[in-house]
Amino acid sequence: MIQRSVFLSDEEATLALGARLAEKLPESCVVYLYGDLGAGKTTFIRGVLRALGYTRRVKSPTYALVETYQLPTKNVYHFDLYRLNDPKELQYMGIEDYFASDALSFIEWPERGLGLLPAADLQCRFIHQGTGRVIQWEASTTIGQTILSTLALNGER
Ligand code: ADP
Ligand code: MG
Repeated sequence: MIQRSVFLSDEEATLALGARLAEKLPESCVVYLYGDLGAGKTTFIRGVLRALGYTRRVKSPTYALVETYQLPTKNVYHFDLYRLNDPKELQYMGIEDYFASDALSFIEWPERGLGLLPAADLQCRFIHQGTGRVIQWEASTTIGQTILSTLALNGER
């Protein structure tokens, strides 16, 4: 298992780190994003999407639970399970279909869908620190370890 931790002083730093991750992503992987409301999870995913060529506004999929992006090189699913009341809703929406083919899945509030989600390649925890944020990364699969070991992190702790 690989763990790394980085300080992000402002929103731009969060977007930039998302963009750097985007360069390292394979065809298919699952990223869990933990942290309080306002911790920067959606901002980070916005950085990934922009770097992959998405130019329109990135909405938070809070009510729909998932937002799909068909980008030139990759399919991306952005899940936000904050409003999930019952894990059965994930079965009703056919969650397993989302993970059946190659795509990048970013999942906010994965703890709410435990047992119905595929295992994460990468897990990141966003923590408020002063006016900035700390991101703690953890990679437990080979895919995640490859990504995390080659990711250039500025401001590493
Ligand atoms: P979440 O999805 O975790 O609820 P959002 O990304 O929607 O959080 O919102 C995070 C808020 O914090 C936004 O207002 C964003 O501008 C700000 N933000 C993001 N990253 C940082 C950072 N590294 N330092 C300070 N503010 C940040
Ligand atoms: Mg969010």
